[in-house]
Amino acid sequence: MDTTTRLSELRRLGSQLEPDAAERRRRLDAVAAHAEMFLEELSTRPIYNAPGDREAAMREFALSAEPASISNILDILDRQVDRVGYNLGASGFFGYIPSGGLYDSALADYLAAVINRYAGVGFSAPGATRMEASLLRWLSGIVGYPESSEGDLTSGGSMAALSAIIVARESFAIRSRDVDRHVVYVTSQTHHTFRKALFVAGMGECIVREVALDDRYRMRADALRDRIGEDQRSGLTPWFVGASAGTTDVGAVDPLRDIADIASENGLWFHVDAAYGGAFALCEEGRERLAGIERSDSLILDPHKGFFLPCGTGVVLVREGRKLTDAFHARGVYMQDVAGDPERSPCDVSPELTRPFRALRFWLPFKLAGTAPFAAALEEKLLLARYFHEQISTFAGIETGPFPDLSVVTFRYVPRSGDADDFNRRLVREIVDGQRVFVSSTTLDDHFVIRLAVLGYNTHIEDVDLVLSVIRDAIDRLKKESD
Ligand SMILES: *Cc1c(COP(=O)(O)O)cnc(C)c1O
Repeated sequence: MDTTTRLSELRRLGSQLEPDAAERRRRLDAVAAHAEMFLEELSTRPIYNAPGDREAAMREFALSAEPASISNILDILDRQVDRVGYNLGASGFFGYIPSGGLYDSALADYLAAVINRYAGVGFSAPGATRMEASLLRWLSGIVGYPESSEGDLTSGGSMAALSAIIVARESFAIRSRDVDRHVVYVTSQTHHTFRKALFVAGMGECIVREVALDDRYRMRADALRDRIGEDQRSGLTPWFVGASAGTTDVGAVDPLRDIADIASENGLWFHVDAAYGGAFALCEEGRERLAGIERSDSLILDPHKGFFLPCGTGVVLVREGRKLTDAFHARGVYMQDVAGDPERSPCDVSPELTRPFRALRFWLPFKLAGTAPFAAALEEKLLLARYFHEQISTFAGIETGPFPDLSVVTFRYVPRSGDADDFNRRLVREIVDGQRVFVSSTTLDDHFVIRLAVLGYNTHIEDVDLVLSVIRDAIDRLKKESD
């Protein structure tokens, strides 16, 4: 067969990859209908579904040389994805830190993939990278950073923390042989991904001090100051303080102003993990809680939490923007056409080169709705958490955790007799088994406690009332059982 004949045969064989306008429309309509069905049924579907049979799923997911129809594919999705696991977007989802699922972000993801700009490089995608720059400037303003700050849209908080740690490492010019003399200050409430990021950043051998907590699980500034002093006297190098602005367990905000003072007096890098709490800076109430965050050297914030985006968007911000570029700027000769490009390039502020056009899923919903509805929704979540705290405190036998700094409340039932941890372990299962609401648990002061995090964009007072009544009924049932 000659080349021309083979080429035309290959083209025919590959033609599935190039649907025409009518076929595109048909597929899009099918996908949109599936999405509508999912969204319309979300409030009545169980909030948690068992994983189902793994082998069956693997068989259905297996690829073959032959095509499948879009309706067949959507059926597989319905069975093997939509109807297993957690429905994060349900308004009764109060577990872990809820991740929203703004519909407008989904439209943006679709468009971003269709437009498919090479969003790592300004030269190639000036519009996409300017949109990112504009969002980052807006965010900097909200947290009180100066215009000279820089940032990056990442896939999430873990990657954002990794970047922040690398910037702090480079900024202090820490050589590998000196790592084990450097000291990091966190608390026992610091998110576990921070330690992982330290390790990935090559700082796993540094000394990590867990600074004592106050009675609301916040870092004690006096204990931090003492610990730094001790370490300095023993010839170590205090390097990095990682504060939390919204811990995962209880939503606690560390005393950021005091920590800022101590970090600057002692020449430490001051980082704030605001992955969960940072979004609250958008409303007045939240801004007050986060006061002092503007004095940090770096911070992370997860739009896929408090800005209600679907999973996949984190942010790192660095107050002195140049430090972020110094840490990550790199070029290969095959990029020589880009040299001298005046456009800002995300690849200069990130470990990544090729990356998705992340800004659109963030920008489109905010541009469409305006920022005011987001501020209102965030204030609503703060109030709902307080309302829940107030209401559940009145239940007989309930012991509540601290008054919420943000939107997480912890509680446990203390039975008159028998093991409290065992009771609460059964209680959380009893609450979740009804499949109308979802809460999760943690361990605080060696007690098993139940936690409720209010962060769904669609979570309103009736959802909080529902979870309260589900909890009340579950306690009654368990009490009857043990009588
Ligand atoms: C979620 C979270 C993280 C980790 O972020 P990912 O987006 O899950 O990678 C870190 N810190 C806190 C406080 C969080 O809530």
